[in-house]
Amino acid sequence: MASMNNGKSSEAFKISAAQHVDVLVVGAGISGVAAGRYLKEFCPNKEFLILEEKATFGGTWDTHRYPGIRSDSDLYTFGYSFKPWIGPPIATAAEILAYMGDVIEENEIDRNILYRHRIKTANWSSDEKLWILEAVDLDTEETRRFTTNFLWMAQGYYRHSKGYTPDWDGMADFEGEIIHPQHWPEDFNGKGKKIVVVGSGSTAATLIPNIADDCEQVTMLQRSPTYFLTAKNVNELADTLREIEIDDELIHEITRKKIIFDQAAFTRRCKAEPEQVKRELLTMVKAHLGRDYDVGKHFSPDYRPWRQRIAFIPDGDLFKSIADGKASVVTDEIERFTSAGILLKSGDMLEADIIVTATGFNMNVLGDIDFTVDGASLAFNETVTYRGMMFTGVPNMAWVFGYFRASWTLRAELVAEFICKLLNHMEATGVERVEPVLREAEKNMPLHSWVDPDDFNPGYLMRKGHLLPQRGESSEWKHSQDYWTERKEFSAIDLEDEIFAYE
Ligand SMILES: Cc1cc2nc3c(=O)[nH]c(=O)nc-3n(C[C@H](O)[C@H](O)[C@H](O)COP(=O)(O)OP(=O)(O)OC[C@H]3O[C@@H](n4cnc5c(N)ncnc54)[C@H](O)[C@@H]3O)c2cc1C
Repeated sequence: MASMNNGKSSEAFKISAAQHVDVLVVGAGISGVAAGRYLKEFCPNKEFLILEEKATFGGTWDTHRYPGIRSDSDLYTFGYSFKPWIGPPIATAAEILAYMGDVIEENEIDRNILYRHRIKTANWSSDEKLWILEAVDLDTEETRRFTTNFLWMAQGYYRHSKGYTPDWDGMADFEGEIIHPQHWPEDFNGKGKKIVVVGSGSTAATLIPNIADDCEQVTMLQRSPTYFLTAKNVNELADTLREIEIDDELIHEITRKKIIFDQAAFTRRCKAEPEQVKRELLTMVKAHLGRDYDVGKHFSPDYRPWRQRIAFIPDGDLFKSIADGKASVVTDEIERFTSAGILLKSGDMLEADIIVTATGFNMNVLGDIDFTVDGASLAFNETVTYRGMMFTGVPNMAWVFGYFRASWTLRAELVAEFICKLLNHMEATGVERVEPVLREAEKNMPLHSWVDPDDFNPGYLMRKGHLLPQRGESSEWKHSQDYWTERKEFSAIDLEDEIFAYE
C-alpha cells in the first residue's frame, strides 16, 4: 500500500526535466488521479505533471476530517472502473485515501505529482500555443513557471482553504467555540458539552451520530428539512457474487452497472412520481423514529426528491441517535447568536458550548486561478460550455465537473477518456490548438445558467452559480447530469466535427 502522505514525491521531476510538459493536470484529488491513470494508459508518450497545493493526494478526502467522515456514494461507482472495490459500499475517508494510494502506486503516478505547489495564474499565449502558469512553491515561497500544451483542470468545485459560514448577527458575542466541519480541530473534545450543529446535509448527518455518544447533547438545527435515504451498508449482490467466488474485477463491474442502473431508475422516479418517492423516503424515517415523532415537521422537505443531493444514512445511524435521545432536531431559523448560544426566530433559545456550522462550501471557479488569454482576463461566465468540460474562447483546456446525483468519479473517467482521445487525435493530425466553437445555427441559441435551478439547487450553486459558464439548449452545449446518456454520447463524439476548431 502506498504511503498516505507522499509529501514531495517528485524528486525525479524536480525540476530538471524543465518546466514544460505536454499535459498539466491541476489537482491530485479523485479526478486528478484518474487523469494520471488515463494518461499513462492511453497517452503513454505524453509527458505530464500533476500540480497539487496540498502535501498529499486525495483532495476532498484529505481536507475533511470531521468525526465519521465518509462517502455518501457507494464505492463501486465512486471508485474507479479499473480498480475493484472490495468492502462495504460506503467508505470512510481513510479507506478512500488508502484505495487512491494503491491506484497511485500501482500505476506509478506518484512520480508525476508535484505537491505543495499552488497555481496562481494561467495565461494562454496564442503566439506560442501554450499555457504559461505561475505556481508558488509553498515550501520556499518561490514562484515557478510551468508551460504546457494542454491544461487539464481537475481542481474540484470548492475552496479547500475556507468553508462557507453565513454571517449571522451576534456571532462575535458567542462565548463558546464555532467550528466549520471543513476545519475540524485535531484536539476536539466534546465530552459533556452541549453542541448545536447548524445544517442538515450529509455532513451534519454524518458527524452527529459520531459525536453524540460523547457529548451531553447534540442538536441538529435546520432551517428546512432534508431528504434522507437509509439502508444497511452492504451490497447483497456483491456479497453473493463474492460468496460464489466470482473474480473481484467481475464483481466490481457487475455491481457497478447494477447500481448505476438502479440510481438512474430512482432519479427518473423522482421526476415522474415525486409524491410516491417522498412517501417512501418518509416511511423509512418513520420506521426508525416511531409513530409519535413529528416526521412531517423535521424530515419532510417542501421540494421534490433529488432537487438537492439526498443524504444517505448507512445503517440509520443518525436516526438511532435521535431515537436514543442523544441527538435532537430543531426546525427553526436563527435570529441571532448570543453569548450562550442561538436565539431562534420562534423566540426559543438553544444553549451551546460549541456551534458547528455545517453550512457548506464556497464554490471556487477554476481553482481560484487568475486566468488570461493573451493577457486579457478570462470571464469564464461569458463562455459557453461544450458538454460541461470545454469552453468557447478557451483553447487547449478541459475541466472535470462530476455528477450531482451519481458518483463524481463516473464523469471524471468519461472526461478523462475523451481528453485522451482528443490529445491522440491532435497528435495524429499534427495540430496544436483546439477550441470548441458554436456552429453557425447555434450562434443565436438561447443561453442559460450552468444548472437549471428547477432541476438542482444546492446552496453553493445558488450563491455562486452565476460565475460558471453558460449552457446552451442541445446536449452538446450542456452538462447533462445524466450518466447513461453521456456514456453513449461521449463514445460517439466525432473529433472531426466542425464544433472542434483546430490549428
Ligand atoms: C465531505 C464531502 C463528501 C463528499 N462525498 C461525495 C460522495 O460520496 N460521492 C460523490 O460523488 N461526491 C462526493 N463529494 C463531492 C466530491 O468533492 C467529489 O466527489 C470528489 O471528491 C471531487 O474530486 P476532485 O478531484 O474533482 O476535487 P477535489 O477533491 O476538490 O480535489 C481537487 C484538488 O485540487 C487541488 N487544487 C485546487 N486548486 C488548486 C490550485 N490552484 N493549485 C494547485 N492545486 C489546486 C486541491 O488542493 C485538491 O486537492 C463529497 C464532497 C465533500 C466535501
